[in-house]
Amino acid sequence: MTGEVNMFKLPILPFLQRYSRSEPSRPQAQALSRRSAEKSSRLRGATVTNGLCPYCAVGCSQLLYTKDGQLIDIEGDPRSPINEGTLCPKGSNALLLALNPHRVKNVLYRASYSADWETKSLDWALDRIARRVKEARDADFTARDEQGRTLNSVRNMGTLGGATLNIEDNYLIKKLFCGGLGVVSVENQART
Ligand code: SF4
Repeated sequence: MTGEVNMFKLPILPFLQRYSRSEPSRPQAQALSRRSAEKSSRLRGATVTNGLCPYCAVGCSQLLYTKDGQLIDIEGDPRSPINEGTLCPKGSNALLLALNPHRVKNVLYRASYSADWETKSLDWALDRIARRVKEARDADFTARDEQGRTLNSVRNMGTLGGATLNIEDNYLIKKLFCGGLGVVSVENQART
């Protein structure tokens, strides 16, 4: 005897009788255990915040669900004309960008002429970048050209944005570096 199922011996008659009745079938009351009845979506009661997928220039809208200040889920926003509630596999996994225990929260710094990397905090890195930007600007700021025309320009540094920057990020970068500091070279790869 083999393990194959003989299709001709399956009891299909009750199935046909049930679905060939002329009268519409009435909804039946479902028997639920208390445990089943008490179950609900984990999103029920969560606070919903609008978000934007940080990964690429498509800019899919997301809904961020939090409970007690903790992020518990990220879903596509059905109101978005861009993604209409969908997210690609990468965007669907955005929750783990925030909650992944392997997420790097420090920077590695190697001082000039040193052979060793040092682990530094993000605050340290931001202070260091701000100081270096100030030093570079002070060294190159040009108020006027040779003919006395106003320039207020800085040409010894620039910024290059990536696809993970949304339009608000790019607006602030343009405002700070161009209008605020006088940096001429402000570019973004993704054109968001
Ligand atoms: S969900 Fe996918 S397609 Fe949409 S922005 Fe994120 S990475 Fe891009």
